[in-house]
Amino acid sequence: MGYLMETYKRLGVEFVKGEGVYLYDREGRRYLDFISGIGVVSLGHCNRVLVEALTEQAKRLWHTSNLYENSLQEELARRLSEKFWTKAKVFFTNSGTESVECAIKLTRKFFYEIGEKRYRILAFKNSFHGRTFGSLSATGQEKFKRGFRPTLKGFDFAPFNDKDAFKRKIKRETAGILLEVVQGEGGVIPAREEFLKEVERVCKEEGLLLIVDEVQTGVGRTGKFFAYEHFNLKPDIVTLAKGLGGGFPVGACLAREEVAKAFKISDHGSTFGGNFLACKVALKVVEEVEKILKEVSEVGEYLKERLRPYGKVRGLGLMVGLELREDCSKVVERLLREGVLVNCTAKRVLRFLPPLIVKREHVDEMIKVLDRVLRGG
Ligand SMILES: *Cc1c(COP(=O)(O)O)cnc(C)c1O
Repeated sequence: MGYLMETYKRLGVEFVKGEGVYLYDREGRRYLDFISGIGVVSLGHCNRVLVEALTEQAKRLWHTSNLYENSLQEELARRLSEKFWTKAKVFFTNSGTESVECAIKLTRKFFYEIGEKRYRILAFKNSFHGRTFGSLSATGQEKFKRGFRPTLKGFDFAPFNDKDAFKRKIKRETAGILLEVVQGEGGVIPAREEFLKEVERVCKEEGLLLIVDEVQTGVGRTGKFFAYEHFNLKPDIVTLAKGLGGGFPVGACLAREEVAKAFKISDHGSTFGGNFLACKVALKVVEEVEKILKEVSEVGEYLKERLRPYGKVRGLGLMVGLELREDCSKVVERLLREGVLVNCTAKRVLRFLPPLIVKREHVDEMIKVLDRVLRGG
């Protein structure tokens, strides 16, 4: 102990085994997992189909680098493009922050290529886009930036969900507008439809790129493959990561073909990005998620309904927040002791991101414990 940088406040438990919506600690105690590694283990722990895909690929080939062809990347990109509203081209990364970096770089390169001096990104207050310098600079929360200034130049911020205020932040050099359809780390705050529509309209009118960060909301989490589909948006760039690999690290940046073309040979790259293991698993994730989108919406609605007696409930699909009147970190600890895993974000918001395969009976099981903990019974 003591050899890790102390960047994480960890709860005093280590899991040694997982199965579906359950995790097991060293003593063999079972926990109902309603956070799934922050929306990562989208198909449950050690999903049979994914384990098979991964182990089969592990015996065949792991990594050759992007010096060579990779038909699994091609296939995964095609599948993701089929989900997109128009033909997309894809760049594979290993994490959410890298997907956002890719989106920022692509945005700048797009305007460079068409000979316009535009480079600024307009993002929103209370947003979260990652912790490397580009994505951190785009993040609209002071607590992530403290101690790390100066951040990059070229980022502006407007209040989220205000359909007029953002227009005043658009400058001559503004290249794109970056947003989450549901702010995740910010406290599970869904964007309003009229706000999104107005952002999209202004992007069109002003020739700005609409960049949707779907790192948390994407790959079925909200009951649609992409959360933007709820509002029929037509984004130029979309980022993915968290749920895409079902627990295997993989991310992606998708862009409409005309935008994607701005990246030429050597403009961007990643050693690990899109390796065989990652692509093989992600292909299966995409395939499996397609089959359960309807259930995600249904169980998501049920979850919200069951949570309503305990506070303000927000969210889409299986991305749900319960706003409490108190700081929720103590509640999280009590729930953990009672065998239920959730997390606390934005101080007072209990966040529920169960595996997408969760059933009503698991919701009932969780609510029983939550009721005991919140009502102190
Ligand atoms: C988690 C998250 C990120 C960062 O992803 P990492 O894999 O931790 O780098 C970026 N954007 C959003 C919306 C996220 O929820």
